[in-house]
Amino acid sequence: MILLDRVTKVYNRNNTALDRISLHVQQKEFVIIIGTSGAGKSTLLKLLTREEKPSSGKIVIGGLDYDKLKDRDIPLLRRKIGVVFQDFKLLPNKTVFENVAFALEIVGFGSREINHTVPRVLDIVGLKGKENRMPAELSGGERQRVAIARAIVRQPKILIADEPTGNLDPKHAWDVIKVLEKINRYGTTVLLTTHNQEIVNKLKRRVVTIQGGRVVSDRANAEYNKGLTK
Ligand code: ADP
Repeated sequence: MILLDRVTKVYNRNNTALDRISLHVQQKEFVIIIGTSGAGKSTLLKLLTREEKPSSGKIVIGGLDYDKLKDRDIPLLRRKIGVVFQDFKLLPNKTVFENVAFALEIVGFGSREINHTVPRVLDIVGLKGKENRMPAELSGGERQRVAIARAIVRQPKILIADEPTGNLDPKHAWDVIKVLEKINRYGTTVLLTTHNQEIVNKLKRRVVTIQGGRVVSDRANAEYNKGLTK
């Protein structure tokens, strides 16, 4: 599903953000990416969403070879990948329903399809009954779940969640993580970056550690926990 082969990203001559990173993520996997600030996590995610281009190396996602990607392929790529950010990025003047619907409107969906799809997705993220609330009337955890609904409403194959719990208290953080797990169970590949060690420990998933732009460890969570108790 996601293949990176010796990918390097140099922003300027003295700053190698990623240094020959190789990573293979299979379809339906749930992968946690950890690393200290400046390790290269955001850069890695920006390469996947094509916000940034690699300096060298190969990236293939869902059969799309990034070297061969044309501008006209970008919408196709964006349909394959949903993204959730730490700061939600909701439209403050639109209701919960409208925020999610907007993601469909901009790609030309009609109101019939929107009225059919949006309630189903709001149900998945546990926001049934809150369709008409404004973002300001929601808790942080609920706002993040609106953002997740918006990210998955076009049924992407991959969901990237970049520090989605960074602004949330532990209870709301865990609600958000449970929604990510549910979406993963439905078949979406999930990439999650987090600083929250408790989430890493509880999730029992593959953990990729990035440090200085390199993958310094890549292991199943059971082994990771064993390593911690040694
Ligand atoms: P993380 O997400 O793990 O905190 P980043 O990917 O944001 O790490 O940063 C990795 C390195 O690349 C850091 O040294 C950072 O200063 C640098 N960097 C990130 N974005 C840019 C940019 N747009 N221009 C120049 N340097 C950048």
